[in-house]
Amino acid sequence: MPSTTMNTEEVRAVWTSEKGSMAKQTAENRWPKIIQGTIDGICEAAAAGDVEEQKRVESIAIRIALKHLKQGIEQNKPLTPLQDDGKLDIQQWNKQLAEIGECSWANCPWLFGECYMYRSIQSILNSSKHWQNYDVFKRQKDSTFVKSRAAVEELARRYMQIVADNPLAQKEGKEEAKKLLFIEMTEIALWGNATDLSLLANLTLEDLQSLQGRDAIRKSQRNIVDNDIEDVWAYLQRTTGQASRQIDIILDNAGFELFTDVLYAAYLLDAGVATSVRLHVKEFPWFVSDVTPPDIESLFYHLDSSEYFPRHEYLEQLLPRLHEYFRSGAITTTSDPFWTTAFSFHEMLSRAPALFEELQKSYLVISKGDLNYRKLTRDGMWPHTTTYEEALGPLGRQSGVKILALRTNKSDVCVGIQTQAKVDALDEEAPDSAWIRNGKYAVISFNEGK
Ligand SMILES: [Mg+2]
Repeated sequence: MPSTTMNTEEVRAVWTSEKGSMAKQTAENRWPKIIQGTIDGICEAAAAGDVEEQKRVESIAIRIALKHLKQGIEQNKPLTPLQDDGKLDIQQWNKQLAEIGECSWANCPWLFGECYMYRSIQSILNSSKHWQNYDVFKRQKDSTFVKSRAAVEELARRYMQIVADNPLAQKEGKEEAKKLLFIEMTEIALWGNATDLSLLANLTLEDLQSLQGRDAIRKSQRNIVDNDIEDVWAYLQRTTGQASRQIDIILDNAGFELFTDVLYAAYLLDAGVATSVRLHVKEFPWFVSDVTPPDIESLFYHLDSSEYFPRHEYLEQLLPRLHEYFRSGAITTTSDPFWTTAFSFHEMLSRAPALFEELQKSYLVISKGDLNYRKLTRDGMWPHTTTYEEALGPLGRQSGVKILALRTNKSDVCVGIQTQAKVDALDEEAPDSAWIRNGKYAVISFNEGK
């Protein structure tokens, strides 16, 4: 029962069998590595001194199951129905798999295959007694956050000096300064994506640190291949009179990026852009680094610790403000089972109508990161000159959803490029689709759903 237009239906989703695609590379190279990482992590966790015997014994069965999953990928085995692990969503996954028909790891829709892999890992853990709530990716998430210590302290300093000491919301005649600050804060939230752990294999620590640096943000502005920031600003200026302005942020990654998102939320409140901010998190570990509820606690645990952050001067000023926003309910977190399905957002209306309705009511929905962008655009092989509005399908024209995508380009889909000449220029500048894949180019795409 597709609710999409003819046009959207004609565009095929990318498959892992697609020659030369990021999908194919990911299925062949990255997936086995990710599963090996979970095996190593469980091995290490089970070897810890305080682990009880039963839990240790159970870890062996889990490692065998994970190894089996990894071998299935390496040997291109067919995707088979997930075993009942007592959770309500299993039937839906298996129904969706049945609808796709016969497929294998190296010959399946990329979006489905990748989501199915993360759900399979969770299924193995769900079927255990002692490891159900174990986050197989926590180790990686934490270690990367600690590495971005300098960037965290630098951002805290700038935030306190630029935003908190200048209550711009109250100042008249400072329109240009307000706008520049909005652009700056939005771009920090955008490039925070550069720490995406599931792609860490392709980036060195130097790359990460330079992407987090302020100068790099400046330089990378030219790499925003579809930039609707002016339209977003115009929308916000036009609507400041609305009494309730709730902004929903569909989060991507934990760690440094989550810190930039929480800071962005605080900025949106401090600047009077939003009256409240709701952060959407995942219900279980997903795409390595995606935010789950314990990651929010973990963020504050680390930020509050002067052991992790020895230069605590600006954090000490910033943290009470952030804590207060959470305590008062100005910033809240929420999750929905839909975020951890393999459905694209084109199917939100039929699969999660209540969620769709909530997003319709939102003042502004901000979608963070590559996976959310793939889901927004149905992971479709659109011509790059397709408008963002068209690629959004049911979330686009007349949807009533005001949706802003902040995404560094790390997969096969990218729409909203104004002209074919620009596509050609990008192909020349960054050949072999590098500008769609290497994380050094990005989009700030906005649609008002009118
Ligand atoms: Mg992610």
